[in-house]
Amino acid sequence: MFLHKAIPIHEVKVENRDPVFAEKLLEQYGGATGELSAALTYLTQSYHTENAGIRDMLQDIATEEFSHLEVIALLIEQHTERASKNLQDKAYQSTLFAIRGPGPHLVDSKGSTWDSRYVNEGGNVVRDLRANIAAEAGALNTYEQLIAMTTDDGTRQALVHLATREVAHTHMFMEALRSMDAFEKPQFGDLTPDGTVDLFFHLHSGNGADTRGPWNSEPEFRYVADPLREIEQRRGSH
Ligand code: MN
Ligand code: MN
Repeated sequence: MFLHKAIPIHEVKVENRDPVFAEKLLEQYGGATGELSAALTYLTQSYHTENAGIRDMLQDIATEEFSHLEVIALLIEQHTERASKNLQDKAYQSTLFAIRGPGPHLVDSKGSTWDSRYVNEGGNVVRDLRANIAAEAGALNTYEQLIAMTTDDGTRQALVHLATREVAHTHMFMEALRSMDAFEKPQFGDLTPDGTVDLFFHLHSGNGADTRGPWNSEPEFRYVADPLREIEQRRGSH
């Protein structure tokens, strides 16, 4: 059962409407990193896990993402309202809203329709939670760009709230993975890895130093400076 209360999860109060900025906001309505993508992703994933706690979390967060979708819709509505047939009207500075009318549409900032391929879900809860950390990073990055571009304080405050919640969701997904001992360990599932699981192949050279760091050094990794030789040796040993 879904209940809806017409109370936005954060106040939406646009002082200086800007239909051209509203086009950019569409990225979080009908775009890849948008709130509809997030809501449908987490809701769908929730039916793929028998872990009651994780299912509960995914459904809570999915429902919150629908509340975010509502905030974006209200922002777009206010930024494009009072559109008239007057060509001097500010709404007509945006081709998209001049043609399609004011209010949100299920398109991204360039007018491409929302696509179900934006939904990243599979049959494994660890796989899904890892994808969600990446999805939240995408949403946070888009919000940072939008916050940098808005000149309206009410819009900025609402966007800072939505961005903050994506940080909170990232943290929840991280802790959920940790609770399953699946955050620190790169591997999950039933694979028995072969002997290359700790090898770093030095395959690209030039352009200055061959950088070393914890991603290719002891104790976690063995650096293979000459991968061709290593591959030949490995072939020979079979
Ligand atoms: Mn959100
Ligand atoms: Mn989120």
